[in-house]
Amino acid sequence: MTEQQPFAITLDVGSSLANRTGSWRTERPIYVDRMPPCNNACPAGENIQAWLYSAEDGSYEQAWRRIMADNPLPAVMGRVCYHPCETACNRAQLDEAVGINSVERFLGDLAIEHGWRVEPTAPASGKRVLVVGAGPSGLSAAYHLTLLGHQVEIHEAGPVAGGMMRFGIPTYRLPRAVLEGEVSRITEMGVTIRLDTKVTDLQATMSDEGFDAAFLAVGAHIGKRAYIPAGESAKILDAVSMLRSMEGEQKPLLGRRVVVYGGGNTAMDAARTAKRLGATEAIVVYRRTRDRMPAHDIEVEEALEEGVLMRWLSTITRVDEGRMVVERMELDETGFPQPTGQTEVLEADSLVLALGQDVDLSLLEHVPGLQMEGGVVQVGTDLMTDCPGVFAGGDMVPAERTVTVAIGHGKKAARNIDAWLRGTRYQPAPKHPLAAFDRLNTWYYSDAPKTVRPVLDAARRRSTFEEVVGGLDESTALFEARRCLSCGNCFECDNCYGVCPDNAVIKLGPGDRYQINLDYCKGCGICVNECPCGAIDLEPETI
Ligand SMILES: Cc1cc2nc3c(=O)[nH]c(=O)nc-3n(C[C@H](O)[C@H](O)[C@H](O)COP(=O)(O)OP(=O)(O)OC[C@H]3O[C@@H](n4cnc5c(N)ncnc54)[C@H](O)[C@@H]3O)c2cc1C
Ligand code: SF4
Ligand code: SF4
Ligand code: SF4
Repeated sequence: MTEQQPFAITLDVGSSLANRTGSWRTERPIYVDRMPPCNNACPAGENIQAWLYSAEDGSYEQAWRRIMADNPLPAVMGRVCYHPCETACNRAQLDEAVGINSVERFLGDLAIEHGWRVEPTAPASGKRVLVVGAGPSGLSAAYHLTLLGHQVEIHEAGPVAGGMMRFGIPTYRLPRAVLEGEVSRITEMGVTIRLDTKVTDLQATMSDEGFDAAFLAVGAHIGKRAYIPAGESAKILDAVSMLRSMEGEQKPLLGRRVVVYGGGNTAMDAARTAKRLGATEAIVVYRRTRDRMPAHDIEVEEALEEGVLMRWLSTITRVDEGRMVVERMELDETGFPQPTGQTEVLEADSLVLALGQDVDLSLLEHVPGLQMEGGVVQVGTDLMTDCPGVFAGGDMVPAERTVTVAIGHGKKAARNIDAWLRGTRYQPAPKHPLAAFDRLNTWYYSDAPKTVRPVLDAARRRSTFEEVVGGLDESTALFEARRCLSCGNCFECDNCYGVCPDNAVIKLGPGDRYQINLDYCKGCGICVNECPCGAIDLEPETI
């Protein structure tokens, strides 16, 4: 009897001809790239798994550049994005989602600190593109069009660039220096922004100034009104105008008791701003229940933490100076709020309406063939309107109204405008299949709870406009990046290389990953089973 080996015998590739597989193998492993759910969920189309992979070994500039390939405003996104990527993250099923948003912020802030720049390298196309509106969508389109070699001019009605990032989102969530840092990087690339330049007639501007194509991103700035009977001295204003005036010299005068009517994010920002301006009471009145509020949970939570009061299932039926009448509602079987006739009087100095915004479409009056529906401009999947060469995105088209969606539209429009200017059609690369949670071997990963971001203390939150949520420092950002499971994409852990009983896995070196030597692979599938992140498939042999 031969002496028993203490461990499995492995042979060097090619060391034994007897080890060659021959023709009996029925399945073969292949390396694949899958779509991580985080990437799939990011409206800006970021390759999150790839930039986290770069960040994991401290290659921060490379990680930042990978973000910048898709999204020119990472420091802004790391503050205001509602991070659907984290909602989709596979790690949430293991312990907690990777803090993608906080790592993005860390990288964005680092880039501002170090003055990292993006240099356009594409040859000049000789084409001129007009972008209307310097909000996130317009800025993103201008950035990507510049990278593609086109000359871009943004016409902006306001006195400063940024759109709702400047005139809507309060400074306690987005400090203006951060926004300015990222906008100036775009202008330094060669994008011209003409401020205080409202486009009133698109066709005239395009033909008078010789533009070859246009991207419209005028946002939605007209505060919706509701008919509420009101006495002559009742103080009623809309949330968008109120928040806009925070950027000027004259802060809004709201009084000590402020009622905000509406249940969206804007209502939360209006109420939190009112508190910081000195209101002793800021009450949000909303017709439905909390779970039906359109505001994101985190915004409602933060408002409650700051002492904002909520009156769910309530509507306002009359406003007079110093008081308003609130009626209790109840939901019918379809979930629609119905009046109950039960009223009560609320003492309040002002009413802020946060009922959503409409788009000012007046600049499009003379544009032939444009289709509007529900107050927004209709576009195709390429974001082109029915007027050739005129594209639109962001809040003015039918879509979710967020900064990230607007940025994603800017990128998508730029690619389609580029193709249109070159007389072709943009063909997006086919998407890889999704790396679902059940593709992972989760026991390979150790437990690592999510890093908590620092938060300003409650007293300062109520009385100042200082930034509420802080950033991660380098060690916590690195830790957070390393929590990524690299779903569906090889992270060169060497497992397949180590476990193959036939040594049929060839290591190609850092960045080049691995190759299967099919002369020796038996198709046993051990590598497939032992890959932590689901980056190897087993395929039937074809004869
Ligand atoms: C109070 C508030 C808080 C928000 N908070 C968040 C948040 O935390 N996270 C998030 O993701 N989203 C948030 N949003 C939504 C987000 O701000 C918008 O979805 C996003 O800014 C839309 O981008 P946009 O480029 O389409 O338009 P905008 O940001 O509205 O920019 C449009 C620009 O076009 C200019 N313009 C308009 N008409 C003309 C014209 N005729 N000629 C030239 N220029 C013109 C405007 O002056 C403006 O600068 C918030 C919105 C509000 C109102
Ligand atoms: S932009 Fe938003 S969704 Fe995209 S990676 Fe950043 S936080 Fe996630
Ligand atoms: S673990 Fe990493 S790759 Fe997987 S979904 Fe989360 S962030 Fe994306
Ligand atoms: S086992 Fe490791 S090295 Fe092999 S494919 Fe999977 S992640 Fe890459």
